[in-house]
Amino acid sequence: MTGKTFKTLDDIGDVLGKRVLVREDLNVPMADGEVADDTRLRATVPTVIELADKGAIVLILAHFGRPKGQRNPDMSLALITRPYSQVLGRPVRFIDWDDAEDAVETLQPGDIAVLENTRFFAGEEKNDGQVVDRLAVLGDLYVNDAFSAAHRAHASTEGIAHKLPAFAGRAMEAELDALDKALGNPEHPVAAVVGGAKVSTKLDVLRHLVDKVDHLIIGGGMANTFLAARGIDVGKSLAEHDLKGTAEAILDAADAAGCTVHLPYDVVVAKEFRPNPPTRTVNVHEVAADEMILDIGPAATEALADVLKTCRTLVWNGPLGAFETPPFDTATVALARTAAALTHEGSLISVAGGGDTVAALNQAGVAGDFTFVSTAGGAFLEWMEGKPLPGVAALAA
Ligand code: ADP
Ligand code: MG
Repeated sequence: MTGKTFKTLDDIGDVLGKRVLVREDLNVPMADGEVADDTRLRATVPTVIELADKGAIVLILAHFGRPKGQRNPDMSLALITRPYSQVLGRPVRFIDWDDAEDAVETLQPGDIAVLENTRFFAGEEKNDGQVVDRLAVLGDLYVNDAFSAAHRAHASTEGIAHKLPAFAGRAMEAELDALDKALGNPEHPVAAVVGGAKVSTKLDVLRHLVDKVDHLIIGGGMANTFLAARGIDVGKSLAEHDLKGTAEAILDAADAAGCTVHLPYDVVVAKEFRPNPPTRTVNVHEVAADEMILDIGPAATEALADVLKTCRTLVWNGPLGAFETPPFDTATVALARTAAALTHEGSLISVAGGGDTVAALNQAGVAGDFTFVSTAGGAFLEWMEGKPLPGVAALAA
């Protein structure tokens, strides 16, 4: 064993001539019938090529879109077989469900095939036993390499792991290792940056983090809710005034847990929300009734950079301001660059995730400088909430 809490390809043994069902995330965005972004396809390469090179018959399981249990030619994985073959640099067979059992018999060691969309089965998302059996009969071994689908207990992500010997693929392993370093067993002090639009979408994240991290840095629209809860007039800012009690409870829990909460003390405000409007940088107590807080200010950003310099680990979800609209990306870009530089120096382990967060880090040009950037979306957030992910739990060693 590798000393991990889950089994990996290092534990899988001899795969020569064995049929290995590999759950991947092939759910790529399409535009005009073409793959618009092949990041997810590229993430599958290490696992698929390693198994094929060891002589396994690689049978890839994946979903594509939301066909809701109906066959839908627009959501057929046949559409991505050719681009996927180009990414892998290997021929890729496509296998439809009708003749899957016969088709897999014709494959040779080292062959790679993509099976049709798992969500064409109505029972896939219900983790239905019949669907589990129908998938499991095709393979000898199961590998889950799709962290992004691991927060759902579906037939192809969870049920099947109980029917066949089950292992984590290389992408899944890398993601779990990175997340473990960030929150599972991190080096302290740990800082968390939580930003984004609303407190209400990240309540469970905040509640979980106050017990885990030493510094909780709150930015974005959700900081306004906390400022308002503390009696500060945030003018026309996006804020959830009805969550005053909830915000106070989170601050109390942080206090009890010895977690320092950092709220901005200067902010960038504007009267209109559009690119490059007139702005003011003011103390949080000086926001006018007709102004909106759209970014945290330079003094707060500098103070947060100093906090990161004292930390060993950073986990980041959510931008600090309305980063899509210039100049309200300033604080997010500046703090992201600080985190990247500290990571580069070797003093910080930095892990980030979330759709807008990844976009913001790309905008700052530093996504590649973080220790790990998760593109998993929902699964990343559920992990930040401290929830067990059923697809991962099913791989328990
Ligand atoms: P992620 O996708 O990384 O989890 P969220 O979806 O929670 O992040 O939040 C991102 C959104 O929050 C962005 O659209 C951004 O414009 C918005 N946002 C951040 N700060 C503010 C603010 N001060 N006022 C309004 N919107 C904000
Ligand atoms: Mg988002």
